Amino acid sequence: MSFLVAIDGPAGSGKGTIAELLSEKLNFIHIDTGAMYRCITLYVLNNNIDKDNKTEIIKALDKIEVDQILKDGKKVFLLNGEDVTDFIRTERVNKIISDISSIHEVREKLLVLQRNIAKGKNVIMEGRDIGTTVFPNADVKIYLDADLDVRVERRYKEFIEKGIETTLEEVKKTIIQRDYKDIHREYGALKKAEDAIEVDSTKMSIDEVVNKVIEIIKTKQEDVK
Ligand code: C5P
Repeated sequence: MSFLVAIDGPAGSGKGTIAELLSEKLNFIHIDTGAMYRCITLYVLNNNIDKDNKTEIIKALDKIEVDQILKDGKKVFLLNGEDVTDFIRTERVNKIISDISSIHEVREKLLVLQRNIAKGKNVIMEGRDIGTTVFPNADVKIYLDADLDVRVERRYKEFIEKGIETTLEEVKKTIIQRDYKDIHREYGALKKAEDAIEVDSTKMSIDEVVNKVIEIIKTKQEDVK
């Protein structure tokens, strides 16, 4: 039997951290769909394709293979077989990713991949359109949110911990722009599914969020028994 948990929400809402901890505790597979969009964006950047040149980007899609594997127990992202894990979470990628992810053909390619890797497995899949488009019949749908300033602070800390120089203002600007584009695009827009349970993590610790989501999942699992 397979069980699918969809977690959607804006940038910096904590989806990645929460999904990773949930997957460890529940022994589910964590699929980070944002990383897939990040790999395609990195390809565009590395090949000097203009972010607005849709024709070139669509043409390049056949040459792009994205994968998520486990290496020494750690999640690793592959772009055409090469480990790009350390290069996808940068401001360079963040700045143009919403332009790339708004292209219908890009979304179609990843939608197929996302549905295929989840087939028959217990999965926590996080992104923007999982509960609305990729898995509208997901067993549990969570919409994770937090106030903008808290999300900015979290992302800023992440960058500083990694030794990446930036400012709170810069991070805030990119997050606002990214959210706006993700919410207002034509396909796969960021939106709370009607049947999603909203969790506002503004004043919650990571453990509190994880425990709350586990409670929601367990209740649902009991219901379907
Ligand atoms: O989740 P993360 O911040 O890594 O996502 C990066 C970007 O990838 C988002 O801002 C969005 O443009 C795109 N994305 C998407 N659909 C998803 C997941 C991510 O469009 N399901």
